[in-house]
Amino acid sequence: MQEAVLAVPQRFGTRWGYDLVVKDEAASVQDYLDAVCRIIREYPLSRTRKKAPSCAGCDLCCKERAPLTWIDVLNLRKYLKMDKAALQEFLDLAGYILVDGPAVDITLRRTGRGCVFLNRQSRLCSVYPARPLVCQTFFCCPVSRRAAGLRQYVVNAGEDELVRQWLLQAGKRGGAPAFHEGYRPKLRLGDWQPNAFTGREHYRQVLLKELCPPRLWQKLYVPAGRGGR
Ligand code: SF4
Ligand code: SF4
Repeated sequence: MQEAVLAVPQRFGTRWGYDLVVKDEAASVQDYLDAVCRIIREYPLSRTRKKAPSCAGCDLCCKERAPLTWIDVLNLRKYLKMDKAALQEFLDLAGYILVDGPAVDITLRRTGRGCVFLNRQSRLCSVYPARPLVCQTFFCCPVSRRAAGLRQYVVNAGEDELVRQWLLQAGKRGGAPAFHEGYRPKLRLGDWQPNAFTGREHYRQVLLKELCPPRLWQKLYVPAGRGGR
């Protein structure tokens, strides 16, 4: 059976990266994750940040800003056995909420040496099976414009839904949302509209077509039998 999303090796000058093609109109974010994780695992993609055949000993990815999606938070809470904890309690432990006027950015919490989930001794991820979408989909190889565009739209929609949930739950508590850093906050729940992530608990329930703008979808979607791949 053909995969709903294909990641295919592509040459960029002297380096190897990948391109993405969606073959099924009902492809989900999980199909996208499966395709990217497969090519990262199985193909010798070029590492632009490290001249070595493996990532061993490199933790550069885990030192950078890592935005969280609503489903990342559900997965991490479950993995850490914090399902019953309030969203704010979880984010105070593992997240970082930055507010700038009406804008909100919720990312993985970092200490001076990187992500809170990075094991300092082994330099490996301590929540690997539940690592967020940005961690699963990052590899320091070149990627096609449509592959980069899709990743950006998935991350943005997932983070927007997380912000919406955070504001909703603060509203239910009857208090002001609590953030970790803020500049002239102007937070309004109405600025965060429901999207393809709303009401979904698993990545397989979130459809790529619902979160892609039409122009990007036209570039990504190549139905089976068309486009040769
Ligand atoms: S993918 Fe990340 S860990 Fe691997 S070499 Fe690149 S920056 Fe380092
Ligand atoms: S969750 Fe894991 S993979 Fe992601 S940044 Fe943290 S340590 Fe790295």
